[in-house]
Amino acid sequence: MPAARTRRGTPAGLRPAARAAARRAVRLALAAALLAGCASTEAAPEGAPSPTPGDGRLVVAYAAAGTAEERAARTFLRERRVLEDAAAYAGARIALPRDVPLRAARCAAPNPFWDEDTGRITYCYGFVPDARRVFTGIDTDGGAAGRAAVDEDVVGLSNGVLFHELGHALVDLYDLPVTGREEDAVDQLAVLLLASGDERHADYAISTINAWGALWQASEGGDPGIAAYSDVHSLDGQRFFDWACWLYGSDPGRFADAVDAEGNPDGVLPRDRAALCPAEYERIDSSWRALLGPHLRER
Ligand SMILES: [Zn+2]
Repeated sequence: MPAARTRRGTPAGLRPAARAAARRAVRLALAAALLAGCASTEAAPEGAPSPTPGDGRLVVAYAAAGTAEERAARTFLRERRVLEDAAAYAGARIALPRDVPLRAARCAAPNPFWDEDTGRITYCYGFVPDARRVFTGIDTDGGAAGRAAVDEDVVGLSNGVLFHELGHALVDLYDLPVTGREEDAVDQLAVLLLASGDERHADYAISTINAWGALWQASEGGDPGIAAYSDVHSLDGQRFFDWACWLYGSDPGRFADAVDAEGNPDGVLPRDRAALCPAEYERIDSSWRALLGPHLRER
């Protein structure tokens, strides 16, 4: 993940999408190394459960939390059943070749990751406060409504990131072919999972889109630098537009407000890109269905 970047001015036209527009303006500037995740070489926390055959689901476990912030994150995750619900949602749709631990734990860097060596997905306690800082700048209502919106966004982004990591797990465990960036391919799976579900999960996608927007906005106008250009992930701004495009493409009628159009100047998606999004989504859908084939529980 790129190091902290220089904050610059507000990008013109970067406004919230769709129905979430009014309450979740993308306004925060934040210098953050959030959401790097992925392909970590970090050692698995001690005491992590070993992979078991099972029936191919994510199996949630909680490791000890250290700091007060981590303990608060652990409580938040448990009370909201963030990991359990994400595991159940994914498990209803996709079968893994064996049970895969989804473990909440302390991490050196607070970015959730899939570890091919240990065969586990780790969700880092430190991700919760980091995400909360991102959304606190977006949901500017400091009252109870604002705090509730931040909590919901943290849950939403957590789902977006967890399904991204699930994508890495699937690629490795099933040895799926990937050409181009694997990071983009698994982003596509995450959008596909979120967009093909209920309203709540579409909202989770919007939370994730707004996080990319905030991170991008934090660096907009500046040169992202060598670390970002050479990174395995697409740039934050690209992920913002890609996720917005694919969510819009999943149901153009429902997410029409996302498009910059006459009468809707606040739409975030330039119409030239928007015109391609339904076909992009269709390709993503058919490609992942072809890749997962018999491993889909829902067809
Ligand atoms: Zn990744």
